[in-house]
Amino acid sequence: MKRQPQRTCIACRQVLPKRVLRRIVHTPAGEITVDPTGKLAGRGAYLCAYRDCWLKALKHKIIGPALKKTLTEDEYAQLEAYARQLPERPAEEPGDTSQTSVDR
Ligand SMILES: [Zn+2]
Repeated sequence: MKRQPQRTCIACRQVLPKRVLRRIVHTPAGEITVDPTGKLAGRGAYLCAYRDCWLKALKHKIIGPALKKTLTEDEYAQLEAYARQLPERPAEEPGDTSQTSVDR
């Protein structure tokens, strides 16, 4: 069996196969772009293909440092627009473990 390349989601810190993650790349031209192919040159950061990880990463401003770039408002808006069209994380997948429901 071929070993899958694995990457860490910068929001939830889960280590997942690269192919299920979305890559954001800081290109040599200094632009921030979502890289669906995973082949663009530049410094990349990986996030789950779910909206919650993207919004968490945007909210906590962890994308910029991961890419060694200060994101502009336009770049934030662009990434947030991308996040909004991503699906919600399926409920059966353990996402944020800090949300423990005790009241049932
Ligand atoms: Zn994640």
